Amino acid sequence: KLLAIKGFPARTKDGKDIEIASNIEFPREVDAIVDLRGDGIGLYRTEYLFLTGDREPDEEYQFQEYKSIVEKLNGKPLIIRTSDLGGDKPSEYLPLPVETNPFLGVRGVRLYRDSGHQFFRTQLRAIIRASAFGDIRIMFPMIACVSEIRYCRKIISEIMTELGKTKVKFNKKILIGAMVEIPSAAATADLLAKECDFLSIGTNDLIQYTIAVDRGNKNLAYLYQPYNPAVLRFIRDTIEKGHQQGAWVGMCGEVASDPLLTMVLIGLGLDEFSVSPVSHLLIKAIVRHVEFSECENLAEKALALATSEDVGGYLKDIYSKKFKHLQHFPH
Ligand code: PEP
Ligand code: MG
Repeated sequence: KLLAIKGFPARTKDGKDIEIASNIEFPREVDAIVDLRGDGIGLYRTEYLFLTGDREPDEEYQFQEYKSIVEKLNGKPLIIRTSDLGGDKPSEYLPLPVETNPFLGVRGVRLYRDSGHQFFRTQLRAIIRASAFGDIRIMFPMIACVSEIRYCRKIISEIMTELGKTKVKFNKKILIGAMVEIPSAAATADLLAKECDFLSIGTNDLIQYTIAVDRGNKNLAYLYQPYNPAVLRFIRDTIEKGHQQGAWVGMCGEVASDPLLTMVLIGLGLDEFSVSPVSHLLIKAIVRHVEFSECENLAEKALALATSEDVGGYLKDIYSKKFKHLQHFPH
């Protein structure tokens, strides 16, 4: 049933277009994504380059990898997230310190300074070179404050100056974005949006850092809730603040793939959903079945509720009534 809407736009009944892109972790997933005829790749996780293989990926290897993916997308966007290592993803090629609390330690963008500087430059050079072959955009993980965006931008501009002296072609206006997955980033999304072209909300980490719950800790799974009012408020504020500054706001965390929250996110004005390929058509089916104005009302009601249980219960109730035809799709 869902396959029947593959070629149709992700447009609400009252005509609002929503971008639905996909998340990938490995290049072998790209063909399936092209086949979905969505809006490209909203999160290309590049960690595998540093976690698999028997040697550190050099610039040429990375360049070929990025080029071959963007060429397959036929002009659709490819948002490459620079490596998000550290935390639960140590890499033997990088000088990661031993820490008692790695999730609050040197991970993501924090690794790009000091001794991690060179591997960051290598990855950026490969991405910037590949930008001559399609709509590549760059996104930085674990941004906590504006200075980190400025630091990344400074390195990009140094690389562009270097490449500008050669015959290598690249997109000088490559779009640059920040992930919003730390509460400090959500609270200052307007300041971040002033310094970049787009924001993408990473709810997997945003939930863990907002509620202080390790996302892998089974004993605390009851607390790790996307329906938590604090998380929903951060999402609302990030979209609002990003839009105030004219930035496009997407979401690449798993919340974007949760069908119970699709109407809420549409109502809050989210521009792009970047979802697991398996959820792509279900989310599109929901978008096509709703009106933007009813989503706005529903978002307002959901955000006025006091507990995760209240929000989850309310959304389940709406979903089971409104989307009876989609009930046999698990979520
Ligand atoms: C996130 O935190 O929501 C995210 C998309 O990043 P990752 O899951 O790779 O940490
Ligand atoms: Mg994350």
